[in-house]
Amino acid sequence: MIERARVVVIGGGIGGCSILYWLARLGWGDVALIERSELTSGSTFHSAGLVGQLRNSLSLTQMMMNSVDLYRTLGEEVELETGWREVGSLRLASSQEHLEELERQAAWAETFGLPMHLVSADEAQSMFPPMSTEGVLGAALLPSDGYVDPSQLTLALARGARQRGATILTNTRVTGVRVENHRVRAVETDQGPIECEVVVNAGGIYAHEIGLLAGVDVPMVAMAHQYAITKPTGLSRDMPTLRDPARLVYFRAESGGLVVGGYERNPSVWGLGGIAADFNSRLLDPDWDRFAPLFEAANSRVPELADAEIVTLINGPEAFTPDGEFILGESAVAGFWVAAGFCAHGIAGAGGMGKLMAEWIIEGQPSLDAWALDSRRFGPQYRSRDYTLIRTDEIYATYYDVKYPGHERQAGRPLKVSAVNARHRDLGAAFGEKSGWERVNWYESNAPSGDESTRPDGWAGMLWSPAIGAEHLACRSSAGLFDESSFSKLDVTGSGAAAFLERLCANSVARRVGAVTYTQLLNPRGGVECDLTVTRLAEDRFRLVTGTAFGPHDAAWIRQHLEDDSVAVDDVTSKYACFALWGPRAREILQPLSESDLSHTAFSYMSAKEINVGAVPCLAVRVTFVGELGWELYCPSEYAVGLWDSLMNAGQPLGLVPGGYRAIESLRLEKGYRVWGSDVTTTDSPFEAGLGFAVKMNKGEFIGRDALERAGEPTRRLACLVLDEPRTVVLGSEPVRFEGRALGRVTSGGYGYSVESSIAYAYLPAALVEPGTKVSIGVFGHDVGAEVRAEPLFDPSNEKVRV
Ligand SMILES: Cc1cc2nc3c(=O)[nH]c(=O)nc-3n(C[C@H](O)[C@H](O)[C@H](O)COP(=O)(O)OP(=O)(O)OC[C@H]3O[C@@H](n4cnc5c(N)ncnc54)[C@H](O)[C@@H]3O)c2cc1C
Repeated sequence: MIERARVVVIGGGIGGCSILYWLARLGWGDVALIERSELTSGSTFHSAGLVGQLRNSLSLTQMMMNSVDLYRTLGEEVELETGWREVGSLRLASSQEHLEELERQAAWAETFGLPMHLVSADEAQSMFPPMSTEGVLGAALLPSDGYVDPSQLTLALARGARQRGATILTNTRVTGVRVENHRVRAVETDQGPIECEVVVNAGGIYAHEIGLLAGVDVPMVAMAHQYAITKPTGLSRDMPTLRDPARLVYFRAESGGLVVGGYERNPSVWGLGGIAADFNSRLLDPDWDRFAPLFEAANSRVPELADAEIVTLINGPEAFTPDGEFILGESAVAGFWVAAGFCAHGIAGAGGMGKLMAEWIIEGQPSLDAWALDSRRFGPQYRSRDYTLIRTDEIYATYYDVKYPGHERQAGRPLKVSAVNARHRDLGAAFGEKSGWERVNWYESNAPSGDESTRPDGWAGMLWSPAIGAEHLACRSSAGLFDESSFSKLDVTGSGAAAFLERLCANSVARRVGAVTYTQLLNPRGGVECDLTVTRLAEDRFRLVTGTAFGPHDAAWIRQHLEDDSVAVDDVTSKYACFALWGPRAREILQPLSESDLSHTAFSYMSAKEINVGAVPCLAVRVTFVGELGWELYCPSEYAVGLWDSLMNAGQPLGLVPGGYRAIESLRLEKGYRVWGSDVTTTDSPFEAGLGFAVKMNKGEFIGRDALERAGEPTRRLACLVLDEPRTVVLGSEPVRFEGRALGRVTSGGYGYSVESSIAYAYLPAALVEPGTKVSIGVFGHDVGAEVRAEPLFDPSNEKVRV
């Protein structure tokens, strides 16, 4: 038993062992792993071991590619067989929509540096002979995928960690986590305490209960996942793995037979009421009733299964999360980290995940954009086990389904609704969901005023309404009213608030009371960690407004830099409704309702004032995210209905139209306003993203400044592109090619109804970001011409905003 370690990793599965390995490999040898039983005795030992790399974002895919890089060499490095077989993978399309999905994925893969390409049904069969080609329209082949022996791989990682000085204690149970002043101090075990600075909860399906030891909620549940193993019939072990999403099944070779698994429509949660303390090296009873439909579907793809002898049906619990991605990162308890919820791709992801976690712990920052995996993406609603379950269940049951862009999840809705939700329903709102909030995508009542002929071709036109264009154009010609109540609002207050924010923000924000500043908060590498507006409400009070989904993340980032109690950070999102009134007639609509002077001289752009709108007290903030004159009006929630009604009543005679988020998206693209998480991420600098105007390099020290200075002139920049075909609308991650080579990837795009163009944004080599440069964009297997344009496309001199 040891008394101290710098880091204690809880859990000796593939996840914990990979993190330990990477901590040691990156130079932290004083690290220990505690396993209550034997290594690999959790979910790891019963994994099917498939390793697929393609995910739907660059950083997730890079993490998986890092896994494969490690699996290729680890065995040799530590002199232990891992069972890695780089046999490739096939993904079948047995419907038109699946074929289109493969075309789309092959295009992403090109930009992620993965050698994925489409092959015919016959070619697929030549690589995987037992499959029938019945109904197969094509397949995607990714030669660098494969499979591995999960237990051997875990033991190899453990050996690699030990060789670099790490300690592994098996048959030692963590029974408590000592937390003082919101910071981890030690873990308690049944063999005594271990003092430490950092604890990593890599407890697999037990991660929820381990989290509770530190007062941290880990929103995951265990699902029973099954696969059958058939008796050897002489099949080659070098056949690629095979997925048939339309049939919900996957296959791989196993000692001359097959592994056959899948994602059933009726998932089975397990262990919700608590998991037995001795549930190690154990499986659940086979559930043939639940597996039968999957096996039947598998049978129709691999006919020889009809006569195959089933050696065993493995039924094992696996940790799934409400959005199907890992949960990584530090929790609200300083020093308590989580790495769990691997959603049946934990073996595939572990090698890269361990690296990412170790970098994050050691350097304070991962080298990849980890937002999609960041534990801070979940709100407090996920403290509910029921809510977590219902959301997770939906993810599992629809795992292989094609999701069209704009696809909205249904489980657990409605949860958070705006105070004027009934008004939205009366107007025929098509709701979307973000972080539990019901938000208006568009109002169907506006559809008759729209133009059906602007419907985008293909997938982009599936979940679409002519109302989007109608709302967009009304905002440009008269005014739009948008409910932005879901925006996250953080109050930063106290005598130290001004100096504190100046240290965090790249722009100068401690300006006069009433000033509104658009700013980024950078990480030490100069990447954009938060993107928000700061309004100075008083000498010692600032209101930060950020995106609906970003509140917990941004609040955590800000809080983690607090040094003393001279600054407090409060989330005031629920206190205030927010309606944005934007358009050339916004002042005409608002002025008669208010006793305050709303003229441009009295109320300038990027300033805020307390005003009355009728009897409603509002904080009016003169900002825009659509490129039009207007205000965001924040009022205490109980006044929201009154404010909405008076704005609608005053505005409708002047052409005001209520609008939704899809119209905002189109409006903001025309103005080149960036969105954090897609156009700008933690690995993009503000200069690369075209946000240099919001950086004050000579204002004094701020986090990230040194990195920006060291980086010098950007070698890549975010570029505005216009496609040659206006009806072809990009969906994100499409390759942007110059002279036939993919040099960039679309970050976001859409149709601009005022500029009548299909717009895309992409990072490109700086030398190409010159108006007039001709490129092409790969859209569903076609190369569509596009041109770099000067931005913004709409109102470049900003005249409409500053009136
Ligand atoms: C049937 C099935 C098939 C799968 N197939 C694939 C696949 O093909 N490809 C793929 O990539 N993934 C697959 N997976 C998923 C993969 O197996 C998991 O994601 C991965 O094994 C999880 O690893 P882990 O380290 O998070 O958890 P685990 O392996 O469960 O490790 C957690 C460890 O924590 C220990 N622990 C818990 N509480 C304590 C405590 N208080 N003190 C000390 N130790 C504690 C446990 O004993 C356990 O050993 C599959 C999963 C299942 C169930």
